[in-house]
Amino acid sequence: MTTSLLIQNAQCIATFNHEDPAQGLELKEASLFIRDHRIEWIGPAAELPTGLHDEAGDVIDARGHLVTPGLVNTHHHMTQSLTRAIPGVQNAELFGWLRGLYPIWAGLTPEMVQVSTQIAMAELLMSGCTTSSDHLYIFPNGVRLEDSIEAAAEIGMRFTATRGSMSVGQSAGGLPPDSVVEQEDTILKDSQRLIETWHGAQHGAMLQIALAPCSPFSVSPALMQQSALLARSFKGQGVRLHTHLAENDHDIAYSREKFNKTPAQYAQELGWLGDDVWHAHCVKLDDEGISLFAASRTGVAHCPCSNMRLASGIAPVRRLLDAGVPVGLGVDGSASNDAAHMVNEARQALLLARVGRALQPPEVRHGQTFLGCDLGPAEMTARDALGMATRGGAQVLGRKDIGHLAKGMCADLALFDLRTLNFAGGAVHDPVASLLLCASPQAAYTVVNGRIVVRQGQLTTVDLDPLIERHNRLALQLAEAARNA
Ligand code: ZN
Repeated sequence: MTTSLLIQNAQCIATFNHEDPAQGLELKEASLFIRDHRIEWIGPAAELPTGLHDEAGDVIDARGHLVTPGLVNTHHHMTQSLTRAIPGVQNAELFGWLRGLYPIWAGLTPEMVQVSTQIAMAELLMSGCTTSSDHLYIFPNGVRLEDSIEAAAEIGMRFTATRGSMSVGQSAGGLPPDSVVEQEDTILKDSQRLIETWHGAQHGAMLQIALAPCSPFSVSPALMQQSALLARSFKGQGVRLHTHLAENDHDIAYSREKFNKTPAQYAQELGWLGDDVWHAHCVKLDDEGISLFAASRTGVAHCPCSNMRLASGIAPVRRLLDAGVPVGLGVDGSASNDAAHMVNEARQALLLARVGRALQPPEVRHGQTFLGCDLGPAEMTARDALGMATRGGAQVLGRKDIGHLAKGMCADLALFDLRTLNFAGGAVHDPVASLLLCASPQAAYTVVNGRIVVRQGQLTTVDLDPLIERHNRLALQLAEAARNA
């Protein structure tokens, strides 16, 4: 049975179709027709073929709404929703934060992973995000990647599930306690099984698997290399590689001390540069690192809120973009943000880039000296930040079928009601920029793969209130178990 959905008379459709800008980047008074899972028609509302209007199975009256591509979240640890704002690590930097949380996460159960994944995804979907990756790297008490995979399928989110791992515990010089690390052959066998069982390589795949050894300070170089070989043995299927890199000064110091290399040099040595790799954070990537990333088209998941929350620093995003590095946005783990609101993440990316510029020393351009702050606001425009949140994220996740709106693309999109308080006085001038400059609104509608998953601000696929109640019970249970351990 085919399904069809007409999104009619939108005030503005921001297509982010930089592949073919002649089709229009911002269409005023526009409509969009979806058949099954793909966009079949997009253009001025007055030009919609009458046949399409008549056969639409469902219609969204989009008057007064902004339509954007579904936002794409490139880095997350969804189980951390259970440990948001937890006392003891509210004011810690990365390593101290991790040391405080590992023993709590050691108590995770399959049920906790399922419920917290749905909570994180509910937040993302309600902020207009349609695709997310998740980096699950701790598998205690029978937890499997399937726990998050099943949660995603039920709530209806497009998903890149990454098989994370930790194999170097404290006794071997790593950061995590020995109790939460796994054997490397177990990790690799499970990784292979997961790719063979779940990875979708086709246009419109709702689920992909990537391999994601956690970080230089929690896995061995051998596991990094073996994981890369394994992913690349699935030739042409788009099995990608993901990890944390160059997150803060301690991370750099660890890399220099243990490996006598910068993180980018370490990644290069292990085969972890390439257009099939994306690294989270890269706050401390140096000039050589940026060049290596650009030359190899290695992607970056920029996580501004987390970088601020943990005082990690300001990633060199403008320089990465100017060098041609693919950059997407990530809300990062829910315990270092502690929110999963993708529009807000794009807003923070905009604001943080401008602060970063203001903090830079004066520079000479075309014979003129500019104080850093003179160029500040131009460092990142609203459209730049939204571009990272949509098409940038798709590129980082290796998806050519999502991230912008055009005929033939997957029907992943978000609608925001411009007639609400958030946009008052802004959307009348510039609806696209006001999405970030005025507001971090909830989506009125979120459509994933042609299916309305958020309708009039409400999730259609799961009953949210009981889910929150169950999640809160499990969060307390997890903290209590750690206290009694
Ligand atoms: Zn992370």
